[in-house]
Amino acid sequence: MATAVPLSLTLDVGGHEFVTQVWALRTGQVADGTERWLLDATAVRWLLDRVADGEISPERAAEVVHQVSRWNSGCCYWCDLAAPTYPEALRRHQDAQEQWQREQRTITPETHPYLLDNGTVHRWDCAAAPPARGPGHPGADLHAYAAWHGPLNGDLDRIIAELWEETRVTRRVTEAEFERWLRSRNHRSVSPWCPRCSPELSGQPENS
Ligand SMILES: [Zn+2]
Ligand SMILES: [Zn+2]
Repeated sequence: MATAVPLSLTLDVGGHEFVTQVWALRTGQVADGTERWLLDATAVRWLLDRVADGEISPERAAEVVHQVSRWNSGCCYWCDLAAPTYPEALRRHQDAQEQWQREQRTITPETHPYLLDNGTVHRWDCAAAPPARGPGHPGADLHAYAAWHGPLNGDLDRIIAELWEETRVTRRVTEAEFERWLRSRNHRSVSPWCPRCSPELSGQPENS
């Protein structure tokens, strides 16, 4: 289905200013998949008047039409929305990454003897286990970031919090954290113990 996206637009031509709206018509799959841009007839007349008055050339008018009928980001509507906060998201990701690395440096085999990876328990030094995972990246390019930005309404706190959740996928845990995790897991699911390193537990492992 086609959807129209209103965008506020200021035409600034030959010392005159004209505030109007353009409509980006996203035709989706109903037509050939390309985007059509509709320009308010009043705005077009105003622009033609500027040409008739000799204030701008026809070429300049065509250029203005071209300029306003494309996404500022050069990509898509969602990228236009996401662009203003992308640099801040990258900066905050960098901070989160550094915070995570600082935390990792305080971890020792004594404080965090286990590594939890997607529901499997390893000894901290198991060769078969992947390394602990840091916070997720908000997107290597603007369009990838827009996939985070759109669904979370551009709320940077929530975006960074969601990305931080990825540190829980593969992580070192303390004895106490491990016991809490063990109690909360579904005991009907497959055995959580890594067969390669068979972690030694302080308590008795349940053979579930
Ligand atoms: Zn895009
Ligand atoms: Zn293991």
